[in-house]
Amino acid sequence: QAKRAGGDTLRFFDPAMQTQLHWRAQLEADLRQALPRDELLLHYQPQVGDDGRMTGVEALLRWQHPARGLVSPGEFIPLAEENRLIVPIGAWVLETACRQLVAWANDPITAELTISVNVSPEQFREAGFADRLLTILTRTGALAERLKLEVTESLFVHDRDEARETMLLLKAHGVSFALDDFGTGYSSLSYLKRLPLDQLKIDQSFVHDLLEDKASAAIVATTITLAKSLHLQVIAEGVETEAQRAWLMAHGCHAFQGYLFSRPVPLEALAFDA
Ligand code: C2E
Ligand code: MG
Ligand code: MG
Ligand code: MG
Repeated sequence: QAKRAGGDTLRFFDPAMQTQLHWRAQLEADLRQALPRDELLLHYQPQVGDDGRMTGVEALLRWQHPARGLVSPGEFIPLAEENRLIVPIGAWVLETACRQLVAWANDPITAELTISVNVSPEQFREAGFADRLLTILTRTGALAERLKLEVTESLFVHDRDEARETMLLLKAHGVSFALDDFGTGYSSLSYLKRLPLDQLKIDQSFVHDLLEDKASAAIVATTITLAKSLHLQVIAEGVETEAQRAWLMAHGCHAFQGYLFSRPVPLEALAFDA
Protein backbone atom coordinates (compact mmCIF):
# COMPACT_ATOMS: atom_id res chain seq x y z
CA GLN A 1 0.00 0.00 0.00
CA ALA A 2 2.53 2.47 1.22
CA LYS A 3 4.83 1.65 -1.64
CA ARG A 4 2.07 2.16 -4.17
CA ALA A 5 1.12 5.45 -2.59
CA GLY A 6 4.77 6.49 -2.85
CA GLY A 7 4.82 5.48 -6.46
CA ASP A 8 1.63 7.39 -7.19
CA THR A 9 3.01 10.48 -5.50
CA LEU A 10 5.68 10.72 -8.13
CA ARG A 11 3.08 11.51 -10.75
CA PHE A 12 2.36 14.82 -9.04
CA PHE A 13 5.86 16.06 -9.69
CA ASP A 14 6.17 17.76 -12.99
CA PRO A 15 9.19 16.78 -15.10
CA ALA A 16 10.79 20.19 -14.82
CA MET A 17 10.70 19.92 -11.04
CA GLN A 18 12.24 16.45 -11.15
CA THR A 19 15.02 17.73 -13.36
CA GLN A 20 15.55 20.55 -10.92
CA LEU A 21 15.70 18.16 -7.96
CA HIS A 22 18.11 15.90 -9.78
CA TRP A 23 20.29 18.84 -10.72
CA ARG A 24 20.43 20.01 -7.12
CA ALA A 25 21.19 16.55 -5.77
CA GLN A 26 24.01 16.19 -8.26
CA LEU A 27 25.37 19.63 -7.43
CA GLU A 28 25.27 18.78 -3.74
CA ALA A 29 27.11 15.50 -4.26
CA ASP A 30 29.73 17.34 -6.31
CA LEU A 31 30.05 20.07 -3.69
CA ARG A 32 30.91 17.46 -1.06
CA GLN A 33 33.89 16.53 -3.21
CA ALA A 34 34.95 20.09 -3.96
CA LEU A 35 37.14 20.51 -0.89
CA PRO A 36 38.93 17.12 -0.99
CA ARG A 37 39.43 17.55 -4.74
CA ASP A 38 40.86 21.02 -4.28
CA GLU A 39 38.35 22.65 -6.64
CA LEU A 40 37.73 25.78 -4.57
CA LEU A 41 39.65 28.98 -5.11
CA LEU A 42 39.48 32.61 -4.11
CA HIS A 43 39.22 35.60 -6.33
CA TYR A 44 40.06 39.00 -4.91
CA GLN A 45 38.37 42.32 -5.58
CA PRO A 46 40.21 45.53 -4.65
CA GLN A 47 38.76 48.03 -2.21
CA VAL A 48 40.07 51.49 -2.91
CA GLY A 49 40.23 54.87 -1.20
CA ASP A 50 39.72 58.43 -2.47
CA ASP A 51 43.00 58.46 -4.34
CA GLY A 52 42.21 55.18 -6.09
CA ARG A 53 44.83 53.28 -4.11
CA MET A 54 44.03 49.78 -2.96
CA THR A 55 43.53 49.52 0.81
CA GLY A 56 42.44 45.91 0.82
CA VAL A 57 40.57 43.22 -1.03
CA GLU A 58 37.41 41.19 -0.59
CA ALA A 59 37.92 37.45 -0.97
CA LEU A 60 35.20 35.95 -3.15
CA LEU A 61 34.84 32.21 -3.40
CA ARG A 62 34.80 30.36 -6.72
CA TRP A 63 34.31 26.71 -7.53
CA GLN A 64 36.20 25.26 -10.45
CA HIS A 65 33.82 22.42 -11.29
CA PRO A 66 35.33 19.70 -13.50
CA ALA A 67 32.37 19.74 -15.92
CA ARG A 68 30.46 22.96 -15.30
CA GLY A 69 33.45 25.30 -15.27
CA LEU A 70 33.67 28.20 -12.86
CA VAL A 71 30.56 28.17 -10.63
CA SER A 72 29.65 31.42 -8.86
CA PRO A 73 28.90 31.54 -5.14
CA GLY A 74 25.32 32.65 -5.79
CA GLU A 75 24.72 29.12 -7.10
CA PHE A 76 26.41 27.01 -4.45
CA ILE A 77 26.65 29.05 -1.22
CA PRO A 78 22.89 28.76 -0.50
CA LEU A 79 23.17 25.00 -1.00
CA ALA A 80 26.25 24.84 1.23
CA GLU A 81 24.37 26.82 3.89
CA GLU A 82 21.45 24.36 3.83
CA ASN A 83 23.56 21.24 4.27
CA ARG A 84 26.17 22.81 6.56
CA LEU A 85 28.97 22.21 4.10
CA ILE A 86 29.48 25.94 4.59
CA VAL A 87 31.27 25.17 7.86
CA PRO A 88 34.28 23.30 6.37
CA ILE A 89 34.16 25.40 3.20
CA GLY A 90 34.11 28.62 5.22
CA ALA A 91 37.02 27.39 7.33
CA TRP A 92 38.98 26.76 4.12
CA VAL A 93 38.22 30.31 2.94
CA LEU A 94 39.44 31.78 6.24
CA GLU A 95 42.58 29.66 6.23
CA THR A 96 43.37 30.57 2.61
CA ALA A 97 42.82 34.27 3.27
CA CYS A 98 45.05 34.15 6.35
CA ARG A 99 47.81 32.42 4.38
CA GLN A 100 47.53 35.18 1.80
CA LEU A 101 47.91 37.82 4.49
CA VAL A 102 51.09 36.13 5.66
CA ALA A 103 52.42 35.97 2.09
CA TRP A 104 51.79 39.73 1.79
CA ALA A 105 53.22 40.66 5.18
CA ASN A 106 56.87 40.87 4.12
CA ASP A 107 56.44 43.17 1.14
CA PRO A 108 55.91 46.87 1.96
CA ILE A 109 53.64 47.21 -1.08
CA THR A 110 51.18 44.63 0.27
CA ALA A 111 51.88 44.52 4.02
CA GLU A 112 49.09 46.93 5.00
CA LEU A 113 46.36 45.41 2.85
CA THR A 114 43.34 43.94 4.59
CA ILE A 115 41.34 40.94 3.44
CA SER A 116 37.58 40.92 3.92
CA VAL A 117 36.02 37.48 4.17
CA ASN A 118 32.31 36.74 3.89
CA VAL A 119 30.95 34.63 6.73
CA SER A 120 27.53 32.96 6.54
CA PRO A 121 25.26 33.08 9.60
CA GLU A 122 25.24 29.27 9.68
CA GLN A 123 29.02 29.31 9.88
CA PHE A 124 29.26 32.15 12.38
CA ARG A 125 26.71 30.56 14.73
CA GLU A 126 28.43 27.16 14.72
CA ALA A 127 29.75 26.42 18.21
CA GLY A 128 33.46 27.10 18.43
CA PHE A 129 33.62 29.39 15.41
CA ALA A 130 35.67 32.04 17.22
CA ASP A 131 38.09 29.49 18.68
CA ARG A 132 38.63 27.86 15.30
CA LEU A 133 39.31 31.22 13.69
CA LEU A 134 41.76 32.16 16.44
CA THR A 135 43.52 28.81 15.92
CA ILE A 136 43.81 29.55 12.20
CA LEU A 137 45.27 32.97 12.97
CA THR A 138 47.81 31.48 15.35
CA ARG A 139 48.72 28.58 13.10
CA THR A 140 49.21 30.74 10.00
CA GLY A 141 50.73 33.70 11.83
CA ALA A 142 48.36 36.14 10.13
CA LEU A 143 47.72 39.48 11.84
CA ALA A 144 44.14 39.64 13.09
CA GLU A 145 44.20 43.40 12.42
CA ARG A 146 44.37 42.66 8.68
CA LEU A 147 41.32 40.40 8.70
CA LYS A 148 37.82 41.76 8.33
CA LEU A 149 34.72 39.59 8.52
CA GLU A 150 31.71 40.51 6.42
CA VAL A 151 28.45 39.53 8.08
CA THR A 152 24.88 40.29 7.05
CA GLU A 153 21.88 41.60 8.95
CA SER A 154 20.33 38.12 8.91
CA LEU A 155 22.88 37.10 11.53
CA PHE A 156 21.24 39.46 14.02
CA VAL A 157 17.62 38.50 13.52
CA HIS A 158 17.94 35.60 15.99
CA ASP A 159 20.36 35.03 18.86
CA ARG A 160 21.70 38.54 18.73
CA ASP A 161 23.42 38.19 22.09
CA GLU A 162 25.28 35.10 21.01
CA ALA A 163 26.47 36.77 17.82
CA ARG A 164 27.51 39.77 19.87
CA GLU A 165 29.58 37.63 22.25
CA THR A 166 31.40 35.98 19.34
CA MET A 167 32.05 39.35 17.76
CA LEU A 168 33.37 40.83 20.99
CA LEU A 169 35.73 37.91 21.51
CA LEU A 170 37.15 38.19 17.99
CA LYS A 171 37.34 41.97 18.19
CA ALA A 172 39.37 41.67 21.39
CA HIS A 173 41.92 39.79 19.28
CA GLY A 174 41.96 42.48 16.59
CA VAL A 175 39.54 41.13 13.98
CA SER A 176 37.17 43.75 12.54
CA PHE A 177 33.63 43.52 11.21
CA ALA A 178 31.80 44.90 8.21
CA LEU A 179 28.05 44.75 7.76
CA ASP A 180 27.50 43.57 4.18
CA ASP A 181 24.52 44.38 1.95
CA PHE A 182 23.41 47.03 4.43
CA GLY A 183 19.77 47.99 4.11
CA THR A 184 18.57 44.88 2.31
CA GLY A 185 17.84 42.65 5.32
CA TYR A 186 14.88 42.40 7.68
CA SER A 187 16.59 43.36 10.87
CA SER A 188 15.83 46.45 12.91
CA LEU A 189 18.35 49.24 13.19
CA SER A 190 18.72 48.89 16.94
CA TYR A 191 21.51 46.32 16.56
CA LEU A 192 23.72 49.12 15.24
CA LYS A 193 23.78 50.48 18.79
CA ARG A 194 24.83 47.26 20.42
CA LEU A 195 27.07 45.40 18.02
CA PRO A 196 30.79 46.05 17.70
CA LEU A 197 30.79 46.83 13.98
CA ASP A 198 33.56 48.71 12.21
CA GLN A 199 32.16 49.29 8.76
CA LEU A 200 28.89 49.51 6.82
CA LYS A 201 28.88 48.30 3.24
CA ILE A 202 26.29 50.11 1.16
CA ASP A 203 24.54 47.45 -0.88
CA GLN A 204 25.22 47.46 -4.59
CA SER A 205 21.52 47.63 -5.47
CA PHE A 206 21.33 51.16 -4.03
CA VAL A 207 24.60 52.18 -5.67
CA HIS A 208 23.35 50.85 -8.99
CA ASP A 209 20.25 53.09 -9.01
CA LEU A 210 21.87 56.06 -7.33
CA LEU A 211 21.74 58.50 -10.23
CA GLU A 212 18.35 57.50 -11.61
CA ASP A 213 16.33 56.83 -8.49
CA LYS A 214 15.71 59.46 -5.80
CA ALA A 215 14.84 56.87 -3.17
CA SER A 216 18.12 54.99 -3.67
CA ALA A 217 20.04 58.26 -3.52
CA ALA A 218 18.28 59.17 -0.27
CA ILE A 219 19.04 55.76 1.24
CA VAL A 220 22.71 55.99 0.30
CA ALA A 221 23.08 59.55 1.58
CA THR A 222 21.36 58.60 4.83
CA THR A 223 23.52 55.50 5.25
CA ILE A 224 26.67 57.59 4.86
CA THR A 225 25.41 60.09 7.47
CA LEU A 226 24.35 57.27 9.78
CA ALA A 227 27.75 55.60 9.52
CA LYS A 228 29.51 58.88 10.33
CA SER A 229 27.34 59.59 13.35
CA LEU A 230 27.98 56.10 14.66
CA HIS A 231 31.73 56.43 14.00
CA LEU A 232 31.66 53.56 11.53
CA GLN A 233 33.60 53.39 8.29
CA VAL A 234 31.49 53.23 5.18
CA ILE A 235 32.25 51.61 1.83
CA ALA A 236 30.14 51.51 -1.32
CA GLU A 237 30.02 48.23 -3.24
CA GLY A 238 29.10 47.72 -6.87
CA VAL A 239 30.53 51.05 -8.04
CA GLU A 240 30.55 50.76 -11.82
CA THR A 241 30.76 54.32 -13.15
CA GLU A 242 32.82 57.41 -12.56
CA ALA A 243 29.58 59.36 -12.05
CA GLN A 244 28.58 57.05 -9.18
CA ARG A 245 32.01 57.43 -7.60
CA ALA A 246 31.85 61.22 -7.88
CA TRP A 247 28.37 61.31 -6.32
CA LEU A 248 29.48 59.07 -3.46
CA MET A 249 32.56 61.17 -2.79
CA ALA A 250 30.55 64.37 -2.85
CA HIS A 251 28.28 62.80 -0.22
CA GLY A 252 31.15 61.80 2.05
CA CYS A 253 31.88 58.19 1.10
CA HIS A 254 35.58 57.67 0.56
CA ALA A 255 35.92 53.92 0.11
CA PHE A 256 34.80 52.02 -2.95
CA GLN A 257 34.61 48.58 -4.47
CA GLY A 258 33.29 47.70 -7.90
CA TYR A 259 33.88 47.00 -11.56
CA LEU A 260 34.96 50.64 -12.08
CA PHE A 261 38.19 49.73 -10.31
CA SER A 262 38.42 46.00 -10.90
CA ARG A 263 36.35 42.87 -11.14
CA PRO A 264 37.19 40.09 -8.70
CA VAL A 265 40.32 38.50 -10.14
CA PRO A 266 42.65 35.60 -9.40
CA LEU A 267 45.55 36.47 -7.15
CA GLU A 268 48.04 36.63 -10.04
CA ALA A 269 45.94 39.31 -11.75
CA LEU A 270 45.78 41.71 -8.80
CA ALA A 271 47.46 44.97 -9.74
CA PHE A 272 49.31 46.48 -6.78
CA ASP A 273 50.19 50.17 -6.61
CA ALA A 274 53.91 50.58 -6.44
P1 C2E B 1 28.84 40.05 -1.58
O1 C2E B 1 29.70 39.70 -0.42
O2 C2E B 1 27.88 41.16 -1.41
O3 C2E B 1 29.88 40.31 -2.76
C1 C2E B 1 29.69 41.26 -3.77
C2 C2E B 1 29.28 40.61 -5.06
O4 C2E B 1 29.10 41.64 -6.04
C3 C2E B 1 30.31 39.67 -5.67
O5 C2E B 1 29.61 38.66 -6.37
C4 C2E B 1 31.05 40.57 -6.64
O6 C2E B 1 31.67 39.86 -7.70
C5 C2E B 1 29.93 41.42 -7.16
N1 C2E B 1 30.38 42.72 -7.62
C6 C2E B 1 31.47 43.42 -7.25
N2 C2E B 1 31.55 44.60 -7.86
C7 C2E B 1 30.48 44.68 -8.67
C8 C2E B 1 30.00 45.69 -9.59
O7 C2E B 1 30.58 46.75 -9.78
N3 C2E B 1 28.83 45.41 -10.23
C9 C2E B 1 28.15 44.24 -10.04
N4 C2E B 1 27.01 44.05 -10.72
N5 C2E B 1 28.57 43.27 -9.18
C10 C2E B 1 29.72 43.49 -8.52
P2 C2E B 1 30.04 37.13 -6.22
O8 C2E B 1 31.53 37.02 -6.22
O9 C2E B 1 29.27 36.37 -7.25
O10 C2E B 1 29.53 36.75 -4.77
C11 C2E B 1 28.16 36.74 -4.48
C12 C2E B 1 27.90 36.55 -3.00
O11 C2E B 1 28.31 35.25 -2.59
C13 C2E B 1 28.67 37.50 -2.12
O12 C2E B 1 28.01 38.76 -2.06
C14 C2E B 1 28.62 36.77 -0.80
O13 C2E B 1 27.39 37.00 -0.15
C15 C2E B 1 28.68 35.33 -1.24
N6 C2E B 1 30.06 34.82 -1.07
C16 C2E B 1 31.15 34.97 -1.86
N7 C2E B 1 32.23 34.36 -1.33
C17 C2E B 1 31.83 33.84 -0.14
C18 C2E B 1 32.49 33.10 0.90
O14 C2E B 1 33.70 32.83 0.89
N8 C2E B 1 31.71 32.72 1.96
C19 C2E B 1 30.39 33.04 2.05
N9 C2E B 1 29.71 32.61 3.12
N10 C2E B 1 29.75 33.73 1.11
C20 C2E B 1 30.45 34.13 0.01
MG1 MG C 1 30.76 40.67 0.88
MG1 MG D 1 27.47 42.77 -0.59
MG1 MG E 1 25.65 39.45 -0.57
